[in-house]
Amino acid sequence: MIPTFKYHPNPIETGAFIKGDAQECNCCGKQTDIWYESPFYSREEVDCLCPECIASGLAAEKFNGEFQDSYSVDEVSDPAKLEELTRRTPGYHGWQQEYWVAHCDDYCAFIGYVGWDDLVKMGIDKQIEESYGSNINGWDIETLKQDMSNNGGIQGYLFKCLHCGEYRLHIDCD
Ligand SMILES: [Zn+2]
Ligand SMILES: [Zn+2]
Repeated sequence: MIPTFKYHPNPIETGAFIKGDAQECNCCGKQTDIWYESPFYSREEVDCLCPECIASGLAAEKFNGEFQDSYSVDEVSDPAKLEELTRRTPGYHGWQQEYWVAHCDDYCAFIGYVGWDDLVKMGIDKQIEESYGSNINGWDIETLKQDMSNNGGIQGYLFKCLHCGEYRLHIDCD
């Protein structure tokens, strides 16, 4: 069992954590068979972090690091939410600088890496289209329908609002 991360609820499925042979957490020194495999912005060399040291904030404190760049996020009025996101939440891998989306004045939960076909399979493409119209963060929706694919040149990052339940997208390209 790993701790609950409200802004990244399925971090094993998204690959933010990897399971394998036990190794030593650089932060607490305990053996862990689940360790962090996504960005950690710190000046120090950190190879292995256990989920508990991320959830408690100990890793961010000890190595003076962030899991998400605090300048590459939407604005939210409560600074405690930004702190939870950047210092106690596992991040994700983007082609470019990772960007964290907010809605209803709070950060959204990161759901995973998607192409347009994934949105169709999940039955949420219409909701996305209704929310954004023909232009999603500067991308033409027809282009995305054709060319946004998981691990393709145009990559979608799917988020879900914790309050109204709406799905939101961040998009970048390689
Ligand atoms: Zn640890
Ligand atoms: Zn919302």
